[in-house]
Amino acid sequence: MIRTRNAHAHFLRGFALLLFLAASGTAALADGETAPARDPKQPVDDAYTAKIHKYTTQPFFTSPLVDYLPASKTVPTPEAVLGDVAGAPGILPYAEDVYKYMRLLEKNSPRVKVFSIGKTEEGREMIAVAVSSPENLKNLDENRARLAKLADPRTIKLDDAEADRIVAQSVPVYYITGTIHSPETGAPTALMELAYRLAVDESPYIREIRDGMITLITPVVEVDGRDRMVDIYRWHLSHPKDFYPPLIYWGKYVAHDNNRDAMGVTLKLTENVLNTYVDWKAQVLHDLHESVPYLYDNTAGDGPFNAWVDPILTDEWEMIGWRNVSDMTKFGMPGVFTHGVFDTWSPGYLMFIAAMHNGISRLYETFGNGGADTLPRTLDPEEYARTWYKQNPPLPKTLWSQRDNNNYEQTGLLTSLHYFNENKRLFLKNFYLKAKRSVTKPGAEGPAAYVLPADDPRSSSQAELLRVLQKQAVEISRATSAFTVTLPVKKSTKPKKDAKDSKEKDAPPAPTTHEFPAGSYIVRMDQPYSRIADALLDYQYWSPDDPQKTPYDDTGWTFGELFGVQVTRVTDSKVLDVAMERVKVIHAPSSVSGDATIYAINNNAEPTLATLRYKLRDASIEAAEESFESAGKKFARGSFLIRNATRAQLNDAIADLGLQATPVSAMPSVKTHPVRAARIAFVHTWLSTQAEGWWRIALDNLGIPYDYISTQVVSKTSDLNTKYDVILFPPVGFFSSPTAIINGLPSTWGNPLPWKTTPETPNLVGKNDSTDDMRPGLGWEGVANLQNFVNKGGVLLTATDTSRFALSIGLADGVSVGNAQRMKIVGSVVGTRLVDGASPIAYGYDEKLSAYCDNGPIFSLSSVSGARGGRRLGNESHTRPTGRGTADDPDFTVGRPGVEVPEEPKAEIWENPLLTDEQLHNNYRAIPPANRARVIFRYADSKELLISGLVEGGDEIAQHAAVVDVPTGTGHVILFSINPVYRGETRGTYSLVLNTILNFDSLNAGRKLAEK
Ligand SMILES: [Zn+2]
Repeated sequence: MIRTRNAHAHFLRGFALLLFLAASGTAALADGETAPARDPKQPVDDAYTAKIHKYTTQPFFTSPLVDYLPASKTVPTPEAVLGDVAGAPGILPYAEDVYKYMRLLEKNSPRVKVFSIGKTEEGREMIAVAVSSPENLKNLDENRARLAKLADPRTIKLDDAEADRIVAQSVPVYYITGTIHSPETGAPTALMELAYRLAVDESPYIREIRDGMITLITPVVEVDGRDRMVDIYRWHLSHPKDFYPPLIYWGKYVAHDNNRDAMGVTLKLTENVLNTYVDWKAQVLHDLHESVPYLYDNTAGDGPFNAWVDPILTDEWEMIGWRNVSDMTKFGMPGVFTHGVFDTWSPGYLMFIAAMHNGISRLYETFGNGGADTLPRTLDPEEYARTWYKQNPPLPKTLWSQRDNNNYEQTGLLTSLHYFNENKRLFLKNFYLKAKRSVTKPGAEGPAAYVLPADDPRSSSQAELLRVLQKQAVEISRATSAFTVTLPVKKSTKPKKDAKDSKEKDAPPAPTTHEFPAGSYIVRMDQPYSRIADALLDYQYWSPDDPQKTPYDDTGWTFGELFGVQVTRVTDSKVLDVAMERVKVIHAPSSVSGDATIYAINNNAEPTLATLRYKLRDASIEAAEESFESAGKKFARGSFLIRNATRAQLNDAIADLGLQATPVSAMPSVKTHPVRAARIAFVHTWLSTQAEGWWRIALDNLGIPYDYISTQVVSKTSDLNTKYDVILFPPVGFFSSPTAIINGLPSTWGNPLPWKTTPETPNLVGKNDSTDDMRPGLGWEGVANLQNFVNKGGVLLTATDTSRFALSIGLADGVSVGNAQRMKIVGSVVGTRLVDGASPIAYGYDEKLSAYCDNGPIFSLSSVSGARGGRRLGNESHTRPTGRGTADDPDFTVGRPGVEVPEEPKAEIWENPLLTDEQLHNNYRAIPPANRARVIFRYADSKELLISGLVEGGDEIAQHAAVVDVPTGTGHVILFSINPVYRGETRGTYSLVLNTILNFDSLNAGRKLAEK
């Protein structure tokens, strides 16, 4: 400790002395390499440069590339917009100001062009800024056409010699993206200054970059979040003594997870960056983050690497990453490293758009202060420890400024750009080779294609999955006639114990064939972007023995499983010869046949059924409680029976919902109940809004209306039932213990933390919610209000941590949560099994359902109030006591006739344990059958639990309840252990939530009660 403090004092004393000896070391260079330094002839903007030095806290926190600013007679510096230099303390520009500056550059320099690349959810603009030589910018289209040939080698018939010719003529595109994570605030100013340097500096090192390649920059990726963050920072500046509010909302829907959307492409920012990356045929996507001292190039991460990336890419990561470390180490900049703890398994990160589209993904973590204050920063021991991959670690303690951060960001980028340019022929050729290997995939590692059958009953979910693939620039085809493929038989991994001779052991399993109807969708793997389709549609296996014990993110995501649609992996290359045509727009076919007063729509758990219910507000819709047949068609439980809607109205409403309305002559004889458009309250906390944000976007996209209210509003609303039928309380996420949900943030000290739009903070609320003080939680009044709501007939739906919350405050009786001892299910796809298909929550579902689970709570049921469920002690062993006879014989008592031993009631793990007569005797705690929890879905048996990802110690949760309906008072509490709505990836489980909403006042339908 003392040593650390002294070291810091020493640095501060040496500060003035060392400042002008700033990193001048130009390292030994390879033959022909240009020195990374200013050209002595390059004029310098002295005033700006002096400020750079002033705001840099240590002489070694900069480099010869950025410790001066080149002067220009015509092009304004960032000071023109910022009022100070980039990275100056106290200055954090709004996105609009950043754009203003970029457009000022465009106006004053022929080397800069600004492109609008789309809007955010809240309508703010996103831009991409191209910096290159005027000639390159003039020839953008010709160059793009060349790059397009490398990106799609089919266009040059996979001709390597032709590729070499194109490579020699092409200018590569290096795409840099900043500030996807709003509290990581440094990139916009760093990128403003970088654009200026690239545009005006005549030093050979910079000129080579400018002439040799196109640098493309999106300075702000999360624009909505940036503007809110700047609001918060300005609030902080005007209330310097107060605590400032945490950034509870970044984008409209999600926070940090905006960098986990590169699979589902649910957010605009992902779509816009993806389109820009693909349209520009860029070779690199380099995303800037700020959470690790001082510069962590986490691209060359730890294992396991994503199985679908090309090994050519993983080599490129190492080349660029280590060269980057080497260059900056030679500048004398401490704390620059690669490798580190990040595993490279999930393709959900924004940068992975490049990895999955034959480019190079890169990610920097530099060191940010979460604003523009200069702060003393003390590191954790593991952060400043020297490791094999971090031989020059950061300092244990230092004064750190936004300018320091900007120096690191710019130095890293400039050396990367230069190295990339030096080796651009290699990287362009690799770009082509990776695309070629994507095209030749069917004949190499395979598969040949994925097929989504035309007769999948979930056509709207199928269409949604195909649309995700199309957003990923994957080509979709459709078979024009029926076709048959040979499917390989799954090899059993277990040795056949009973195989009597080697003949039986070695006999190859017979292949099977499968016929697909005309109109089936074919995702060909002989296309340039087959890689992303394969990564999304294939299965993932993360070995519990993997040396990586802390997966960085989800371990499994198989989209076909999570969307609840049929996807067949076809290795038979004959599938590529099937007659097919490319599909530009995916439609989910809907139809209304015939004119009638009653229409029936089959229930296949399609989320669009809920859309229809809310669209047809005036129609009367009933759900059939049993399956029935009508007009020669079979209708499953939960099928809609619609009256009071004309054919035209129905036709209009179901367009593109993927639903078929069939006229029926009369109501079927089975029992029905009304399907009403429930009034929904959607509850969020002021602790975190991200997990619920994924629920909000799902409801918004489906057109399900709701009131978005905070726990504070719940605490002030004593009669929730008059306003709402259903309260959704989606998962909270971080720090969300039951006490945190109730208590909120500490409020016995400190100041109120307002989240509201004021002249000072014009962007804070956006289109979400506001409060004068974020600190108060649900409070005990809120608990009482929720309890009242449920007791008086309301339906409260909770998932994962909010289910724990509901159980811990006693909102639902007869269910307890067990603690996992060894279980590790890290963002995996797991199997569940239907237990009670008569429950409306299960309408449209099959026996098997795949779901997303992230160490979900382990529910156990009890038939005794307040008792913990789970296996009862002593119930496990049925060995007979010591006595006469063999092991299977009954014992006897000498001198009296034998008696029959009463059979112990047995229940499965997911069931309510039955009570014995003894347990029932005067047991006022015994829960009457009608009040007991009703299990709708349970987790699969241990051996069938893993679908994709990592499941370790899965026996702890196997067979336990996964979705439970607990009657409480006259209402219901619905508990999910899985998370049914997650990152736009789990459409297959959405209807568990939507069914609850649609059948809120008939949830007891089909319930069979135990006798006692
Ligand atoms: Zn980040």
